[in-house]
Amino acid sequence: MSRVFDVIVVGAGSTGTTTAYYLAKEGLRVLVIDRHGVAQGMTAYSLGLVRSYYANEDVASMSHYSHEFFMNFEKEFSVNVFTKTGLLVLGNDEADMRKTFEMLRNVGAKVRLLGNDEIREMFDIDTAQDEVGIYEEDAGYVDTGLYTNTVMNRARELGVELVIDEARVQFNDDKVIGVRLVNSDDIVRADHYVIATNVWTPKLLPQLNLPIKNIIERVVRVDMGRSLPNVFDYVNNFYIRPEGSTNGLMGLLYPPEDVWPDPDNFNPLAEPEFDYAVGVMENAARRLPWFVNAKYLGGWRGLYDVTPDWMPIIDEPIKDLVIVIGLSGHGFKLAPAFAIMVTELIKYGKIKTFKDIFRLNRFREGRTIQGIVQEKAAF
Ligand SMILES: Cc1cc2nc3c(=O)[nH]c(=O)nc-3n(C[C@H](O)[C@H](O)[C@H](O)COP(=O)(O)OP(=O)(O)OC[C@H]3O[C@@H](n4cnc5c(N)ncnc54)[C@H](O)[C@@H]3O)c2cc1C
Repeated sequence: MSRVFDVIVVGAGSTGTTTAYYLAKEGLRVLVIDRHGVAQGMTAYSLGLVRSYYANEDVASMSHYSHEFFMNFEKEFSVNVFTKTGLLVLGNDEADMRKTFEMLRNVGAKVRLLGNDEIREMFDIDTAQDEVGIYEEDAGYVDTGLYTNTVMNRARELGVELVIDEARVQFNDDKVIGVRLVNSDDIVRADHYVIATNVWTPKLLPQLNLPIKNIIERVVRVDMGRSLPNVFDYVNNFYIRPEGSTNGLMGLLYPPEDVWPDPDNFNPLAEPEFDYAVGVMENAARRLPWFVNAKYLGGWRGLYDVTPDWMPIIDEPIKDLVIVIGLSGHGFKLAPAFAIMVTELIKYGKIKTFKDIFRLNRFREGRTIQGIVQEKAAF
């Protein structure tokens, strides 16, 4: 393949495909390269929870924009990938929750602040006197494989090309001069390169010394015997993401930070450890007494590419090389926001729609993003 592209995107997960679609809509000639195919990386193991709720206003704006993209997806793509379930967030710092609620309303999210009685009435969930809830009616989850394949198919209709091969970025001094396709031993070139390789990025670009740790996220599947919205319980440290009518996918909101450096030597299909599963289910039973009857059904694991402030890096650390990485467990729901940011960076040389706060040098310069490390509810 000797053609020259406007943009080469490495990685065909939710980030790379959504970015390719946005770039193609701008009329750019795009090549996507993935060594395993579409949605074969961590996107495949994602819970796909989407919502506007975040405690940080800049991130909430991005999440709200993306959330609307998912809710309107069927109109644009004629495929329904979104299931609306609502999200109930429970906490006991009323002043803080009230502040977050006001901010989310200003961002445009459909939220309600709920007291004890309303929580009990609406969800049959017991709360202590000092606890409050924020309920986001439109939150839900997306079928991540169906989404990513649908977006990639539409991108291909718009002219995007897809190659299944392993990419190695080629440099001449500090300049990117192309991407070598390892299996076909071909070199492809473009005016711009986008790296969306998630937990594999430190291997692909070791020279950037990225401040990223790959951390294990476990998912526990249970049969709850009844339905619930998405629940984030900050008091008892657990989340539930419903699956179908009575199953739940669960984990800890503050998980142990177990690092797994080599993603090629990681088995996502291994079940979560017994102690982890029991711990999560015990935490849920503290809030939901009926949970003692829930049945464990197994589970899986995935890796998050985590930065020190649990927020992404969207930057051009080398001329014409844009990185969208360090997604820290938020990456699926923010994919449309990332895509518009990368497209603007390439088209105008600057990010316009959202704040340009995700640069790599923030870690060196002490400008880390606040409000997330405390709230590791990444999904
Ligand atoms: C268990 C779990 C639950 C999650 N739940 C949520 C959630 O509810 N909501 C949410 O918003 N986020 C969630 N996330 C995070 C989210 O899923 C990820 O941030 C997001 O899907 C990452 O997408 P990506 O496209 O950047 O990476 P990936 O999907 O990992 O894609 C990267 C691609 O790069 C390819 N690649 C790597 N190296 C090379 C190379 N050298 N050459 C060619 N190709 C290469 C890989 O094959 C892979 O396909 C979850 C993550 C996990 C693990």
